[in-house]
Amino acid sequence: MASSANSRNSSQQPSCCRRFGNCYCGVESPLNTAWTKDNPGRRFYGCAKFPTSNCEFFHWHDEEFSARAKEVSWMLYKENKELRKQIKMFQQEVSAENNQIVGLNDSANTIELQNQVIQLQRQLLEVKERVKNDGLKKNMKCSMFMASLLVIVSIVTLALINSR
Ligand SMILES: [Zn+2]
Repeated sequence: MASSANSRNSSQQPSCCRRFGNCYCGVESPLNTAWTKDNPGRRFYGCAKFPTSNCEFFHWHDEEFSARAKEVSWMLYKENKELRKQIKMFQQEVSAENNQIVGLNDSANTIELQNQVIQLQRQLLEVKERVKNDGLKKNMKCSMFMASLLVIVSIVTLALINSR
């Protein structure tokens, strides 16, 4: 009598096969998915502390798949894994390209800045030349004013470009 009750209980809910129950460690057993060639995508309950414990609690949640379902699932799993790998590689390449573009923009800004400085220096030289050649105080004063103005303009321009 007792033994039949026990066997009935164990067939309804054997301790090894409780769904969402605890494993032998007394911890609730999580639902996992197997991704092996023999059981691709088949869910199971295992030990929450796997692989650090020696619990060995294991119970399939899904029925075994047909040979064809296993074959297709395994093929799709491998393709998916390969595509994810490729996406990761492309992302790294795009990131590297972006870094290069940022570097190119920086050097383009530097070249533009250098050209502007050269242009301003030329203008300043021209003004100095005119001051030298012109003996008139009035013109000299005007030219000195222009030279000072150019120096101020170049300083302000450099400051503005650097602050970008
Ligand atoms: Zn366990």
